[in-house]
Amino acid sequence: MAVGGCFCGNVRIEYTGQPIASALCHCEDCRKLTGTLYSYSLVINAEDLKVTGSPKAVAKVSDAGNHLNNFFCPDCGTPIYGHKVDSADKPLGVVVLRAGIFDNPELLSQRKPVAEIYTKNRVSWLSPIEGADQYPEGLALP
Ligand SMILES: [Zn+2]
Ligand SMILES: [Zn+2]
Repeated sequence: MAVGGCFCGNVRIEYTGQPIASALCHCEDCRKLTGTLYSYSLVINAEDLKVTGSPKAVAKVSDAGNHLNNFFCPDCGTPIYGHKVDSADKPLGVVVLRAGIFDNPELLSQRKPVAEIYTKNRVSWLSPIEGADQYPEGLALP
């Protein structure tokens, strides 16, 4: 089991299971969402994630057509995860977990991204990750 939480500690997560995918995303939404140049997220089954605290949701549809409720800590603003929803706002089985919230940095070293998406937006001084599939645009979530 992996545990993590936000900057102030008011939202905590527990994660079990194996990710469906892991990706760096260089899209403009991820820049705003994280306040930095790209995001690193694990695509996981929603049932494998337990959340304590009361994260606040901000809904957005990505360029790739993914409807996501993006959850943030209401106190410190740390992005925690995005939950895929259908067009009627019903939560589906897939969650995009923001990888930087894990407490154990070892875990992130062991889980190298399998893909990079929106590479057309990658800043020019950053190199592609060796061995990660490169996609100029976004991908539809499962
Ligand atoms: Zn917080
Ligand atoms: Zn993105």
